[in-house]
Amino acid sequence: MIPKAGGLWKASHFIWKTTFIRPQFQPYVRMSSSLIRDKAYINGQWTSAKSGATYNVTNPATGEVVGTVPDMDVRDTVAAIETAYKRFQTFKKTTAKERSEKLKVAYRLILGNIDELARILTLENGKPLAESKGEIMYGASFCEWFAEECRRVQGTIVPSPFPTKKIFTLKQPIGVCGMITPWNFPNAMITRKACAAIAAGCTVVLKPAEDTPLSALALCELFDRAGIPAGVMNVVTCNRGNAPAIGKVLCESPLVSHISFTGSSAVGKILLRQSAETVKKCSMELGGNAPFIVFDSADIEVAVRSAMACKFRCAGQTCVCANRFLVQEGIHDKFVEKLTASIKQDVKIGNGMESGVTQGPLINKRAVDKVDSFVEDARKQGANVHVGGQRSSLGDTFYEPTLLSGVTSDMLVSKEEIFGPVVGIAKFKTEEEAIILANGTSAGLAGYVFTSDASQQWRVAEALEYGIVGLNEGLFSCCEGTFGGFKESGLGREGGIGYGIEEYIEVKYLCMGMK
Ligand code: NAP
Repeated sequence: MIPKAGGLWKASHFIWKTTFIRPQFQPYVRMSSSLIRDKAYINGQWTSAKSGATYNVTNPATGEVVGTVPDMDVRDTVAAIETAYKRFQTFKKTTAKERSEKLKVAYRLILGNIDELARILTLENGKPLAESKGEIMYGASFCEWFAEECRRVQGTIVPSPFPTKKIFTLKQPIGVCGMITPWNFPNAMITRKACAAIAAGCTVVLKPAEDTPLSALALCELFDRAGIPAGVMNVVTCNRGNAPAIGKVLCESPLVSHISFTGSSAVGKILLRQSAETVKKCSMELGGNAPFIVFDSADIEVAVRSAMACKFRCAGQTCVCANRFLVQEGIHDKFVEKLTASIKQDVKIGNGMESGVTQGPLINKRAVDKVDSFVEDARKQGANVHVGGQRSSLGDTFYEPTLLSGVTSDMLVSKEEIFGPVVGIAKFKTEEEAIILANGTSAGLAGYVFTSDASQQWRVAEALEYGIVGLNEGLFSCCEGTFGGFKESGLGREGGIGYGIEEYIEVKYLCMGMK
């Protein structure tokens, strides 16, 4: 039996105002949602900004307003930090079993509300509904995983070198955790860190992305119903203008012990610098520039299927999306031909709420402008366009699925994260050349290798300077796997046995003198 806490919800919280909605999109957004909130969540209370300011959340597919949330600032963040600090003094004393039970209830509540959570996610992020459901399931898996992990966090009794002293290690929650998350996985990027922290006995102040606060607030509602105590999970919403100041206060506050960030490497570096003053432990899940290497011996059907799966998810806006396709000369032309055919046949662009749509909009027009400028740059430098290569007629936020060949290392599509539905293919001759090209970037999050040669699989996987390698596989994310990057793609790991929860734990060495 799932407990219900939190009381009744005001009708104004979940009745969609028809004035928000253009008639043609009414079937998608005019819904009653008990999980839509128009306030931030601090100390278990639905809270307005102290300034009274709000901002609108829009659907990237239609431009329609789908919600309104507080535009909070530093004062609200300080209040949330103080609340989280106060709550930490008692929450750290709860047993792992108690925390585990609450997280398991939250897990069941999330899955029990999967349809509604997925609709909210698609409305604010734009990804197709089926993908949103996949994300909710992935996000929920961290609730369950960390509910299990926390029961097995153990200190040690160490053989002492002294007859008169006993020595031990204790593992304790680190304290208040400041978290900042991106819009591309508005649910799972929160649960992957917040559930680990809560399982460990920490409290959280989280700032979601400006574009996708509704998914974060819906999670708070379910945590509340699960009986997670007030003040453990706090969410401060704000628009882009207030994000740097809120980030700074989270990094600099002496009451915050840990910063966990998922987002771009550029912002990660700012947060690291700001956290240095108080010497905070930091977990950083940053940008990628994933190589996708296809050797001559690869099973071409597997390589094409995997390319489709890992490139076009979230319209190409994931940190592990293949960014640089490196294809050996013997298989190159066939791979280009088959991948082009698959793009033409299998990608359907449109509003993520429509059935059959596989590619939604990009997050905003700025993202489309950036992708278009990258394609233009590649074209000017001699790349060939096999499909797409332009903005979509569907609207400002849509870009056609695109395949370019003849890509070189000098082009923006190779040097930077494209974050859009664009495949850029470069040809190589030897394994050595492929490894040099693949590692020739400051990023090191995920890489992909396709080959039927078992020795080559092992050699190349070892040689890649990446935190995650997909071997003949385009989709690898799961709570059991450790997620994180080498080089400028991050610090620390999320998920996995031990790694994810240990980010939120301090080790204390205890030495006891004996008579
Ligand atoms: P972003 O610009 O770095 O934003 C991420 C978060 O940081 C948002 O909440 C944003 O708030 C906030 N932010 C921006 N500037 C800030 C500042 N100066 N101080 C404090 N917070 C600040 O990244 P994005 O474009 O949203 O997300 C895409 C990036 O995230 C890509 O590089 C992608 O690879 C990376 N990513 C990495 C992983 C991973 O696991 N490694 C997962 C997903 C995404 P606003 O929304 O208000 O601007």
